[in-house]
Amino acid sequence: MKIIDIHCHVPRSPFFPGTEKWNEKWKRKNIWVCGMAMNISQSEKSLKLAKEYKQIIAGIGVHPWKVKREYTTEEYEQIKQMAEEGTLIGEVGLDYRFVQKVERYPYQREFLKNILIIAGELSKPLSIHCVDAHDDFLKLIRETGIDPALISLHWYSGSEEFIKKFVSMGCYFSVNPAVEYSKAHQKVLEHVPLDRLLTESDGNVKYQGKVGVPTMVLETVLPNIGKFHSMGLEELSNQIFDNSKEFLKINFKNL
Ligand SMILES: [Zn+2]
Repeated sequence: MKIIDIHCHVPRSPFFPGTEKWNEKWKRKNIWVCGMAMNISQSEKSLKLAKEYKQIIAGIGVHPWKVKREYTTEEYEQIKQMAEEGTLIGEVGLDYRFVQKVERYPYQREFLKNILIIAGELSKPLSIHCVDAHDDFLKLIRETGIDPALISLHWYSGSEEFIKKFVSMGCYFSVNPAVEYSKAHQKVLEHVPLDRLLTESDGNVKYQGKVGVPTMVLETVLPNIGKFHSMGLEELSNQIFDNSKEFLKINFKNL
């Protein structure tokens, strides 16, 4: 059985430092892990870790919580270069709930717009954090003309109305351990077709006090999706693995 965690904060504790022992564990369990970055320096780290460890896939990004100003042309150039080298872009997005300073929202929108343009030019997939900002995110998708199949909405917690819109456009959704108890997150199982589902841990986030780690994809996420669709783990993990290959555009045989 092959497992992919499409969204995990590998460049930070407890996965870094000490990544080697994690990589060994993931290798034993056939788990590949996409390393999400919160900022530029973590993006550099993510690239380095992916070169060093076979189970790690490089994600490049600046989290919306960290976007507090305008970015310079040089910074966009640096991000673009790193994104070209990496496999996916993340974590990026919009957050109008946990970020309460309204004056930062235009910076978030401007940053995400430029990142969507870069992703479109490089044809790189993105793992998107979108909280209470779905209308503006939809506008940016239309404005930039980004292919919706390059987008994965991570830990979706929005309304049914918006989930239907993103589904009809062909976006992916990554499901995490919150699916066990969160009614909002369970909506993803109800509305998203199986061929658009991905899996994630969002490690090191805590789920009811328990630190998220990639093995939770196997222990919690897949069993919950399987229960919903009455599918065995083997069949389901094959489906999710195929979806991930399609989304990430990588051939795991070469890894
Ligand atoms: Zn995250």
